[in-house]
Amino acid sequence: MDTKIWTGPGRPAVFLDRDGTINEEVKYLSSPHQLRLIPGAAEAIARLNQAGIPVIVVTNQSGIARGFYTEDDVELVHSYLDKLLADHGASIDAYYYCPHHPGAIVKQYLVDCECRKPRTGMLSAAAAQENVSLAQAYLVGDKRSDLRAAVSAGARGILVRTGYGKEAEQELLSEAEASGAALVANIVDDLAAAVDQILATLSQSQPQGIQPPKFAANFRHHQPEIGRHYPHS
Ligand SMILES: [Mg+2]
Ligand SMILES: [Zn+2]
Repeated sequence: MDTKIWTGPGRPAVFLDRDGTINEEVKYLSSPHQLRLIPGAAEAIARLNQAGIPVIVVTNQSGIARGFYTEDDVELVHSYLDKLLADHGASIDAYYYCPHHPGAIVKQYLVDCECRKPRTGMLSAAAAQENVSLAQAYLVGDKRSDLRAAVSAGARGILVRTGYGKEAEQELLSEAEASGAALVANIVDDLAAAVDQILATLSQSQPQGIQPPKFAANFRHHQPEIGRHYPHS
């Protein structure tokens, strides 16, 4: 497939929620052995990789604040996720996670932070650090907080029906019905369907045939607020 997409100034990005979007939802997933890819997710990520679009995970990990697991555990999970994805020729360009919670048990994470979705701190940090444009970005997730974060950041949100997505869809439908308003959320079955839509939209709106610059995964400024790391490849 040769559908390279222009990624100069204002280049697009796809932000992905992790649990319930890439991997099966497990409450407070803490260990690699709990990690199961959602069918088609790895292949979908590989298609974004082939199109030269940065793929950036943005995940709330309040289990750290709650003392269920540590930042090291999260990084182990992400390393294993990298391995599972690599088996399908897919890779994540950067991971951002929020370790905080306003009700944290672990004191250092007791923060009413700007990064926990639906707030936009992870998206704005990633936009600056990874040189992507939020106006050209998508955020795919299984919760309403993902959609809200996308809207607040000026990006396009897509709700998937995997994970908690069906519940979120029901809530949105009920609210729309109660208010008499039309349902405006963009809802698809899963990450594979979301990527179909994203690639179709971008191939219409972006000039083609231009080689994208190599994704700069070497930008590693220390930022204490948000957990972030890159695959070691
Ligand atoms: Mg999720
Ligand atoms: Zn946070």
